[in-house]
Amino acid sequence: MVDLKSTIRDVQDFPKKGIVFKDITTLINDGEAFREVIDEFYKRCKGKEIDAVVSIESRGFIFGAALAYKLGAAVIPVRKKGKLPHETFNASYELEYGTDTLEVHRDAFKAGEKVLIVDDLLATGGTIKAVIDLVKKLKGEIVEIFFLIELEFLKGRDKLKGYPVFSLIKYDKE
Ligand code: AMP
Repeated sequence: MVDLKSTIRDVQDFPKKGIVFKDITTLINDGEAFREVIDEFYKRCKGKEIDAVVSIESRGFIFGAALAYKLGAAVIPVRKKGKLPHETFNASYELEYGTDTLEVHRDAFKAGEKVLIVDDLLATGGTIKAVIDLVKKLKGEIVEIFFLIELEFLKGRDKLKGYPVFSLIKYDKE
């Protein structure tokens, strides 16, 4: 077993002063660590008949696509506004200054499909709330929400009441 936490690099003051950025490039640079992440996610969701794995631009794609491959499930990208070429649904969320918008294709999956959502990190929960809105617009059934990392002290999980949330690596302080 790899000590996954030890493969994550803290970068101080990125992208701006006061933020400790959790850099996962050092985790995916270690093939054994990357495989362990996907295997752990897989163990939790195999047998749950997942139809589609929804993941979020851009670091979410790395983990979501690998897990979907293992499950034999569809890969559904949620992207920043203006990147998807066909008709989309969109959902906005608050940033520290202003808002941002995420989009998904309107025909990404069929109503009633069982969906797993995967992202790299849960901070305040704003991003994932917008993704949940998108999955609801498509009438997907959210089976579980997976994060590689959870910053527990930001209490993002409180925004996700009623949804099963699983995170592999937790930080209870900065
Ligand atoms: P939030 O909407 O606050 O939950 O932020 C989640 C998104 O922002 C994730 O998709 C992360 O990629 C990114 N993010 C937020 N805080 C950090 C951090 N400290 N280190 C790395 N990524 C972060």
